[in-house]
Amino acid sequence: MSTETPSSPTLDDGRRLLAAAEALFEPVLARARELTAGGRAIDDHQVLAERVAYAATEVRAARETLARASAAGEEGRGGALLETTAAAAVADLVASVRARLDPELDALGLGDAALEKAFAPELRALLRRAGSEAVLREIGRETIEQRGRNELPLDEMLEQVRESVREFADKEVAPQAEHIHRRDEDIPEEFIRKMSELGYFGLSIPEEYGGHEMGNLAMILTTEELSRASLAAAGSLITRPEILTKALLQGGTEAQKKTWLPKLASGEVMVGVSVTEPDIGSDVAGVKCRATRATVEGEPGWVINGPKAWCTFAGRADVLALLARTDPDPAKGAKGLSLFIVPKDAFEGHDFEMKQPGGGRMVGKADATPGYRGMHSFTLNLEDYFVPASHLVGGEDGLGKGFYLQMGGFAAGRLQTGGRACGLAQAALEKTAEYVVDRAQFGKPISEYQLTRYNLGLMATRLLAARALTYAAAEAMDRDERKAGPLAAQAKLLSCDIAVDVTQRGQLMHGGWGYAEEYPISRYVVDAQVLPIFEGVKPILELKVIARTLLAS
Ligand SMILES: Cc1cc2nc3c(=O)[nH]c(=O)nc-3n(C[C@H](O)[C@H](O)[C@H](O)COP(=O)(O)OP(=O)(O)OC[C@H]3O[C@@H](n4cnc5c(N)ncnc54)[C@H](O)[C@@H]3O)c2cc1C
Repeated sequence: MSTETPSSPTLDDGRRLLAAAEALFEPVLARARELTAGGRAIDDHQVLAERVAYAATEVRAARETLARASAAGEEGRGGALLETTAAAAVADLVASVRARLDPELDALGLGDAALEKAFAPELRALLRRAGSEAVLREIGRETIEQRGRNELPLDEMLEQVRESVREFADKEVAPQAEHIHRRDEDIPEEFIRKMSELGYFGLSIPEEYGGHEMGNLAMILTTEELSRASLAAAGSLITRPEILTKALLQGGTEAQKKTWLPKLASGEVMVGVSVTEPDIGSDVAGVKCRATRATVEGEPGWVINGPKAWCTFAGRADVLALLARTDPDPAKGAKGLSLFIVPKDAFEGHDFEMKQPGGGRMVGKADATPGYRGMHSFTLNLEDYFVPASHLVGGEDGLGKGFYLQMGGFAAGRLQTGGRACGLAQAALEKTAEYVVDRAQFGKPISEYQLTRYNLGLMATRLLAARALTYAAAEAMDRDERKAGPLAAQAKLLSCDIAVDVTQRGQLMHGGWGYAEEYPISRYVVDAQVLPIFEGVKPILELKVIARTLLAS
């Protein structure tokens, strides 16, 4: 940090602010637990539960931001800009927690006293100073000077992963990203082939099943760098196989793991995930698509009937991980669902029809979308579509366990989406930092205006928090996949909102050109908007995953 800002906040300042936010959050959480009967009555207090879930996410992000910056400092890889940005990020998060919880304090019987106790006058002054516009302008000035480049310190192996993926994405993906988006074209096969050769699909798959087992953080860095070049044409390719991988690792038979995981790791098999139906979205337990036992042409298995919606990549995919109702009794809810690996041919384009020799049929038609193009998201209809018995995940033991396996897969998907959001926000930060230097109005580059610097500072600061939380979730996933689900959901929640915020701020700083398709920022904005929608639309993620876990514990 330059000496222009005498009062640059320190990590110690950040720690004091975090302690204040925790001091406010803890009694709120305790009262919210009582009020919602340990989370059982969330629906009677949805707004409170949503606020608590978000505040918890922000508190956790503040903690992880400090931890990452402290660790980098201790290892001698930090730096003044990282320290100031981390402290400012904590101030931004803590101010948000305070404002978010304030409206609930009276209803929770805590009142102003809780606020005053947590935020004594000197802490309020510190909060204003650490998150002041002067601090953010200075961060913005340095961010512009560095053209927004992401140099967050990592260990040597991870830095190599990041560098090599960045090089690949800049060289191979970025030059084609605009074209694919504007023409809504298919993802080029050469992307898939090269990513397969580079081992990108096997990063988190155990070695015994043909993967590289480099861990979730290496995978997230890969996804992040690919998404920086294009969310839709490369950054989202690992997400689907990752969802199926986690479902197989948790509940697949040994034979299924041996059959499918090496093919997923090598990129030989591309995956679509088919859960949503035209009238079933968030209420996954209500899935209606039916799978019925049948023997077709002498082979025992299942026939699947029903519509599915929003199945991304269903055309090109070689298999669909499809959730279907195997128990016809609707009262069974989630317990009547099973997960199938549904094989199909790979098709080009925006619609397809797959006919099986035994009479089964699957048709797909892509729904046009403003962004997230390239993979195409399909409405499907399956008619007596045959799937061999060996494709029921978990075999006979997997009957009725599809919902839980799918949710396990979604935890991995959400972690992935945290990485995708960070990559997309990073792209917006870099393009904006370049643009504001090149664009002059009223006789000087717009980068020299205070408000531009402030906005760039805020973008960089928020992105650091999103990244710290996402990386923490990746590391938690390495330690214990089953316990990391709620943290992955928090990483997804915050990072996706930050991607929306950062891309829109970037667009405004491009003025009218930010709305022109030939400027990538316009693509980033429409791509970012889908992030809070899938893998648990934001309100559902907050209420049914994060709040439920928090309020129950
Ligand atoms: C581009 C794109 C790609 C997608 N890809 C896939 C894919 O590959 N595979 C797949 O299976 N799905 C996919 N989806 C579907 C996505 O996961 C769903 O859209 C998402 O889960 C939300 O479901 P829904 O759209 O039916 O919304 P709904 O469930 O109808 O929810 C709409 C809104 O209703 C409100 N709401 C609903 N229930 C509650 C409640 N209990 N309490 C309070 N408010 C509530 C919330 O405000 C919510 O945002 C994709 C979607 C898009 C847009």
